[in-house]
Amino acid sequence: MADISLKHVYKRYEDKTEIIKDFSLDIKDKDFVVFVGPSGCGKSTTLRMIAGLEEITDGDLYIDGECVNEVKAADRDIAMVFQNYALYPHMTVAENIGYSLKIARVPKKEIKNQVMAVAKILGLENLLSRRPAELSGGQKQRVAMGRAIVRKPKAFLMDEPLSNLDAKLRNKMRVEIKNLHQELQSTVIYVTHDQTEAMTLGTKIVVMKDGVIQQVASPKELYEKPANTFVAQFIGIPQMNMFEGKVYYSQERFFIKMGDYEIPLKHKVGESLYEKGYIGEEIYIGVRPEDIRIVSKGPMKAEVEVYELLGSEAYVYFRFQGKKMCGKISADIPVKVGDMIEFTFLHDKMHFFDAYRETKI
Ligand code: ADP
Repeated sequence: MADISLKHVYKRYEDKTEIIKDFSLDIKDKDFVVFVGPSGCGKSTTLRMIAGLEEITDGDLYIDGECVNEVKAADRDIAMVFQNYALYPHMTVAENIGYSLKIARVPKKEIKNQVMAVAKILGLENLLSRRPAELSGGQKQRVAMGRAIVRKPKAFLMDEPLSNLDAKLRNKMRVEIKNLHQELQSTVIYVTHDQTEAMTLGTKIVVMKDGVIQQVASPKELYEKPANTFVAQFIGIPQMNMFEGKVYYSQERFFIKMGDYEIPLKHKVGESLYEKGYIGEEIYIGVRPEDIRIVSKGPMKAEVEVYELLGSEAYVYFRFQGKKMCGKISADIPVKVGDMIEFTFLHDKMHFFDAYRETKI
């Protein structure tokens, strides 16, 4: 399996627009790396450059220490799994899975054994003689995986492999891919615009925007310590609430003023903002919906505009400082539309961002 390294990689098309800008990333053997970001941010382009399907304009790509910029896709020993499966319709499942071995002139008996072994891993043993038209979406996706696995590649690249499946099947296949990664102990690079897929699958997540890496981190770190306002609001459902406030120090206490409200800060937090020069400055304050607490007497008040019951939890939407906010609360708390709620934030769960650079303070 493989270590993959991108060093200051750029992609420009003929019109000179930079699609990928200064992309540097080290992927270790057995990592499950997920590229996530909004549509058009350059995820597929980056993946295709790694696969060798797209030329690298500038910078270098290394696989196991060797620069492979000039190495053809077929010689990179990497398998790609696409969203549209790309199965051969006239071939059976077994023929589809074994095709690359046939091309490589592996003896028939050996092909049969290897196809069977892969089919077992993927639960396709009973479908080997069917053609793609006789398979469900999930089964087709499994065959596409099988075709990649049988090649025993150095790494698997997957481009939105689950996006054609319905929600239930997507959840099932997601778990299967995770198991598969553990079983094969392989390096995987996975592209998705779906943050749930990113958070559940990745050991390392690369958040991208406009061709630029915003943050590379574990799912936990990404959620708890987002590097900027974009990552903060991209990761997490419903998204992090964000509003402006000013930091003050008066009568030996630190606080944030937001319109008519003052939120006291822990001394340590205030001191850290002071040391970084934010006293009297405008900053962004981020609060995740689950870090809002409805209390009987809170520092802040608002009228509930929308209430969504999800089961054991509920989302309450209200307006605060002119901004729409969302709180995630227990369904046991009796709240309905039109109620005035009083609330507070969990103080040590507040996130602070520079108002100009939009980066984490
Ligand atoms: P993602 O996978 O994140 O949705 P892509 O990597 O597919 O994004 O595309 C990134 C950007 O590159 C898009 O804005 C797309 O329009 C642009 N792009 C893709 N292929 C070409 C091309 N051949 N010529 C010019 N621009 C392209």
